Amino acid sequence: METITINHVTSIINVMIKTVIENESYFCELDSKAGDGDFGASLTKGFKSLKENWEDINKEDIGKFVRSSGMIITEECGGASGPLWGGAFLAAGRYAKGKEEINIKELSELGQSMVDGVQKRGGAKLGDKTLLDAFIPAVESLKTSASTNEDIVSAVKKSVEAASKGAESTKEIVALKGRASYVGERSLGFPDAGAVAIAVILKDILDKAFQS
Ligand code: ADP
Ligand code: MG
Repeated sequence: METITINHVTSIINVMIKTVIENESYFCELDSKAGDGDFGASLTKGFKSLKENWEDINKEDIGKFVRSSGMIITEECGGASGPLWGGAFLAAGRYAKGKEEINIKELSELGQSMVDGVQKRGGAKLGDKTLLDAFIPAVESLKTSASTNEDIVSAVKKSVEAASKGAESTKEIVALKGRASYVGERSLGFPDAGAVAIAVILKDILDKAFQS
């Protein structure tokens, strides 16, 4: 696959909605081990609202679609997730402004804009036991793939592997950011909920959104 079209983006966001809703309790359970237990509910609230407002979302081009989704996510997701996930979507919307399709290089740049969006809002870096520990390796992997102009599906497959490895690595870290930091040493041995969510969502996107 050479490019991601607006139809793929529709499928990707649909998969995200389904995956987040299906994993609500799992994500809460993870956050209860290494945080305060509300992550699944925080995320689900925003993505349910996205589903409810689906018809009103501007789908003219990828930028408008992602931006319009980002505004709902910012507004409706609870906890730290509203500003963080919303920030990522709004940054991606700005990057993809006016674009009707995206190639592998642009996909890697869009991913980097999302990482920047999260860091601008939350100030965390790699190794702080946050979703960035899965997201940054996933985007780095896309950049490597872009440098050899790799096929998008195969690039996303590698990116999913990098995200899973990154999520797994958070087990060894004591959280420094967000409410998870209050848990301190007790979070050791448990992965960060946001990092696992990134890995799970990317895997579902790979398996379910690139069929056409
Ligand atoms: P809260 O910390 O307000 O309870 P949520 O439960 O909605 O927020 O989300 C928790 C997840 O958000 C964490 O598992 C982590 O991955 C992510 N997170 C928290 N703070 C930050 C931050 N400053 N930067 C990036 N991600 C963060
Ligand atoms: Mg929480």
